[in-house]
Amino acid sequence: MNILLFGKNGQVGWELQRALAPLGNLIALDRHSTDYCGDFENPTGIAETVRKLQPTVIVNATAYTAVDKAESEQEKAQLINATTLGALAGAAETCGAWLVHYSTDYVFDGSGDTPWKESDTTAPLNVYGQTKLEGEQAIARNMQRYLIFRTSWVYAARGNNFAKTMIRLAKDRDTLSVINDQFGAPTGADLIADSTAHAIRVALDKPEVSGLYHLIAAGTTTWYDYASKVIHYAQSKGIALNVKTINPVSTSAFPTPAKRPGNSRLDTRKFRETFALTLPDWETGVTRLIDELYA
Ligand code: NDP
Repeated sequence: MNILLFGKNGQVGWELQRALAPLGNLIALDRHSTDYCGDFENPTGIAETVRKLQPTVIVNATAYTAVDKAESEQEKAQLINATTLGALAGAAETCGAWLVHYSTDYVFDGSGDTPWKESDTTAPLNVYGQTKLEGEQAIARNMQRYLIFRTSWVYAARGNNFAKTMIRLAKDRDTLSVINDQFGAPTGADLIADSTAHAIRVALDKPEVSGLYHLIAAGTTTWYDYASKVIHYAQSKGIALNVKTINPVSTSAFPTPAKRPGNSRLDTRKFRETFALTLPDWETGVTRLIDELYA
């Protein structure tokens, strides 16, 4: 079985290279690949890659993920996150492939305090969220067999993310201010990749599982509690950090070009029940990340 992976060097893409390898013959591409086009600014090239390789499963970890920059680069974000997805989905459907894709909690407006279900109304607050939603719709419109996993607050040992930024700032500064009124769950790229591999095995046997799922670690936290956990755990391991005080602040203390949702809680029941998987607590993965970074 040929498995085609796009975006092999992102946080999730890197972990997918490991997790998908045992499932079949893995062809992993990124924007610089030369044998086949992996550049999502080239929709025709991406469709051509699918036609040439005729994969059984396509996994797309490519995305325009610069949330604030997207506000001033709308066309580019739209091309990568939506237009090319339409071309990819069309080519995948023609060759009868499964398409696995990732989306985001940012498709919701962040109101209320209950976890969002897959069937809840979407209303993105920013350009990134809007383009990711259009990507989901392009797949659902064009395809019979797909898995879309909405995830949130992704981190990995490789790549840039909030946890690593907090450690770096805690080395340089003695006071940090961190937002305490946005709620969600930090989710490891390794958990996403491993869960994807298991879900693909189920989907190949049971095509009726095709659809949209929420896939995040269990539990809920805020950026402030997440930062505190990372810093205190790093300190408990003897890592020298200068930070003395971590202040909880509201979102309004850090104005950004893109608005963020306050409530990013996602209900994962559909994912867990459909694929018979357990999603561990977010703290398990975050402490493991620190252990891995500072072994
Ligand atoms: P990363 O930003 O780590 O990876 C995205 C990858 O896409 C990078 O390798 C990047 O390459 C690549 N890419 C960007 N533009 C192009 C292009 N034109 N052609 C080819 N490749 C391109 O993202 P994550 O791994 O964290 O995200 C994986 C998925 O999860 C995405 O769908 C994202 O929307 C979703 N998600 C992520 C969240 C997060 O907190 N990170 C939260 C919720 C959902 P390069 O490095 O060369 O630019």
